[in-house]
Amino acid sequence: MTGKAIIVSAPSGAGKTTIVRHLLKVIPELEFSVSACSRAKRDEETNGKDYYFISADDFRVKIASDEFVEWQEVYPGSFYGTLKSEMGRIWAMGKTPIFDVDVVGAVNLKKYFGNNGLAVFIHPPSIEELEHRLRKRGTESDETLRKRIDKAAYELTFAPHFDSVVVNDDLEIKCGEIAEMVGKFIAE
Ligand code: ADP
Ligand code: 5GP
Repeated sequence: MTGKAIIVSAPSGAGKTTIVRHLLKVIPELEFSVSACSRAKRDEETNGKDYYFISADDFRVKIASDEFVEWQEVYPGSFYGTLKSEMGRIWAMGKTPIFDVDVVGAVNLKKYFGNNGLAVFIHPPSIEELEHRLRKRGTESDETLRKRIDKAAYELTFAPHFDSVVVNDDLEIKCGEIAEMVGKFIAE
């Protein structure tokens, strides 16, 4: 039997980081589950807050010593995963972890938590809008942008495996709807 957990997933650029940040602001019982990852840190990111940034070699060592709840090679050469030690940190605070993970990781976490997990899929209004948001965010090179867009159509096929699918068109309205759903789930 595990505690409750909130799992948020989407193709990259759909708005899940924005939505998760909003949920953390308005629901104090939530604690962000900081993943480990092997990609380069972006300027605005902080090690230990956005991710635990480690090398691909370190990541492989931790996989071999069974330190992850789940991990994925989300993009070729870029590993992401949840460390068991991170779960321990959050349970010890008496809080509910909220995960921002790729679609395969989300489905695995949902299986792990069962009815104690609420899995929310953030659906972009369209692939064109997804590309527009990624370009506007300004974090991707032409190559990484292409990889993310190419992967999005495949990722959208995972939506039926989630407890809830929310089309992120109007950000304010959708943040409100999701916060209400998560608040109810935690209180149940
Ligand atoms: P993800 O975490 O899914 O990759 P982000 O939260 O970084 O996505 O959002 C991608 C970009 O789209 C960001 O620049 C964000 O400000 C913007 N964005 C998020 N939601 C919306 C929305 N509903 N309408 C317009 N832009 C949005
Ligand atoms: P980004 O590089 O944009 O921060 O994240 C790339 C993708 O990796 C996103 O879809 C993000 O949700 C996912 N991701 C982040 N942490 C994890 C994790 O611990 N496990 C898995 N499976 N995916 C993750």
